This record gives sequence, C-alpha cells and structure tokens, in this order.
Amino acid sequence: MYRFKRIAVKVGSNVLTRANGALDLTRMSSLVDQMAELQQNGLEIILISSGAVASGRGEITVKGKLDDVSSRQLYSAVGQAKLINRYYDFFSEHGVACGQVLTTKESLSTRRHYLNQKNCVGVMLENKVIPIMNENDTISVTELMFTDNDELSGLISAMMNVDALIILSNVDGIYDGPPSLPSSHVIAVIDREQEMVDCIQTSQSAFGRGGMLTKYRIAQKVASEGIEVIIANGRTENILLKILETDGQVACTRFLPSPKASSGVKKWIAHSGSFAKGEIHINENAAKALLGEKATSLLPIGIVAVDGHFEKDDIVKVIDNKKNEIGIGKVSYDSAKVAELMGKKGNKPVIHYDYLSLI
Ligand code: GLU
Repeated sequence: MYRFKRIAVKVGSNVLTRANGALDLTRMSSLVDQMAELQQNGLEIILISSGAVASGRGEITVKGKLDDVSSRQLYSAVGQAKLINRYYDFFSEHGVACGQVLTTKESLSTRRHYLNQKNCVGVMLENKVIPIMNENDTISVTELMFTDNDELSGLISAMMNVDALIILSNVDGIYDGPPSLPSSHVIAVIDREQEMVDCIQTSQSAFGRGGMLTKYRIAQKVASEGIEVIIANGRTENILLKILETDGQVACTRFLPSPKASSGVKKWIAHSGSFAKGEIHINENAAKALLGEKATSLLPIGIVAVDGHFEKDDIVKVIDNKKNEIGIGKVSYDSAKVAELMGKKGNKPVIHYDYLSLI
C-alpha cells in the first residue's frame, strides 16, 4: 500500500507544545491517529518523540534557582512520564500497543550495546508494538548527551534500517531563503550531492535543542546511507498521511536516498563520530588511496600522527594532511601500538575497510 515498509518518525518539542509550553494534546492525538492508521495498513513505525523537558516544565514550580543539568533532570523525569502516558492512552484508543524506550549515547557507543538496543526495538516491531523513543534526559548529562533528538533519530533510522525517516518540525521544510520572507520557498527535493548550507537558518527553535542546520546535516548523512529523509511541518493537518499517501502533494523537503546502502557495521560507525576516542592523522597519499575508487584499508605506512588514548576496537577519527576529518573507523590496535607502527611498511591495517566510514 505504501512505498515504504518501515519508517521512523521524529516529532520535535515544538510540534508537541503550545506557545506557553503546555503539551498540545490535540496535535498529539492527531499524530497518533495517523500513526495508528498507518500501522494498521501494514507500515512499521518507530516514533522518536521529544517533549519530555518541555512538558515537565509546565508541571512543576521550582523553589529557588536550579542549574541547567538539575532542571533538565527534574523536568524530563516528570515530563517523560506525562508524555508516555498520553501516548499510551491515545494509541490504546485504536487498539495499538506502544512501549517506551529511553536511551543514552552510552547505550549505543559499543557494538554490543548497539546490537542490544537494536534487538529491543526489533522485538517490539515484530510484535506490533510501536517503540516510542527518547533520550533518557534524567541521566544524560552534557558531555554524554546527543546533540539533539535529530541526531538520535538518524542513529535509530540507520540502526533499524528504515526505508524513510520523517522529521516533523514547526516549519514546512528547508527554505531557499529566510522563511519569513514571502519570496522564500520550500525546497522540494535535495539531491545527495547538493550543498545547501548557505540558505539554512541557523536560529534554534523555542523548545527543542536542534535547529535546521543539524536537521540538514543529519538528513544528508542518513540519505547517504540509502534512507529517504523527509522534513515536514508537524502542525500541518494529517501531515503523515499526506506525505505517505499523496506522494509530493504536500509542502516538505525530501532528501533523495543514495542507491548504495552501506553495511550495518559501517552505518553504526558512520553515526559514531561523537564517540571517537582519538584521531589518526594521515599523509596525502593515504588520503588519496582511501578516497579513491578502490576499497582501501588504512595501513600504518600512511599514518603521520596519533592523538588521544584509545584501545583496540575503539572509534577514532581519520584526519587528512589538510586537517580535514575524512572518515571514522574502528581501530585494530591501541594508540600506543599505532604510534609504534606508524610510517612503517607491512603489518595489518590499522583500520580495515569494513570498519571505515568515509565522510
Ligand atoms: N530529549 C529532549 C526532550 O524530550 C529533547 C531533545 C531535543 O530537543 O532534540 O525534551
């Protein structure tokens, strides 16, 4: 019935909250109605929903002043309970089961954790339960946090190999100029190779952490993994049905997927840049070889410097001779061994091609 079999839907805080910060139950219930209908028509759905902090804020009056971390912990603890309760009740009205999956960056940082998380979402989908995912804001503090739920939704989409990721925000998509100007239009399709950064608004939304630039970056990356990404306005009536049932009839920005879907391991690595424990600097020849047509592993001979302390199997960044990050990979040696081997001929690859994701 649909072009897709499995999709991820990311709903931003601004879609779910009213201007005064209260949870917008009318909108929430309408989104649930649409998702229930889609699921009943055979589509598998993973929901990544923000809104915990925003909905908790309206519930609690705090005595005195709280620091950023404490207020986020307090509001998300209360708000997430409220959010999931509402979702549960709304989905129940349709006889659709849903469940809560709270995650942290750390729960996805090693391959073992990642596969465990993947298994959890997989078994829910197999049993027709809609996973409702969010970051566990009560325990993710600053340096261990996802940049925002856009980043989380990209990671989950790659992990669960969805056919499409729909990011619902409070604008119609990516505009070719400032959205406030009548002369600006929503860009309907973005090809993988197109660089649009110049026309993207860098302002942040009122309640969420992400902005359009992060959405754009995530969308490009996810599309390069063979997943179609659609950025649309979650406040438009029946937006999900319009996107899925009337292909191209509603204002939104589509990122065309690359035909070449990478392997599961490479996808995990591609989304693991923020877990990197160090950097490996390489010379011009090695950079040329890695970026060339032929699948090439990174050998010790091409390495000129090692930064940071890492263990075997950790994730590191690969930096070229012009200081550009050109890839992310899983290392076969620890940092001391790489430093010892660098510049030398022979030896096994420091990063095997199968564990290297080029940017
Ligand atoms: N996890 C946060 C929440 O539920 C939202 C993060 C974001 O805005 O992307 O409130």
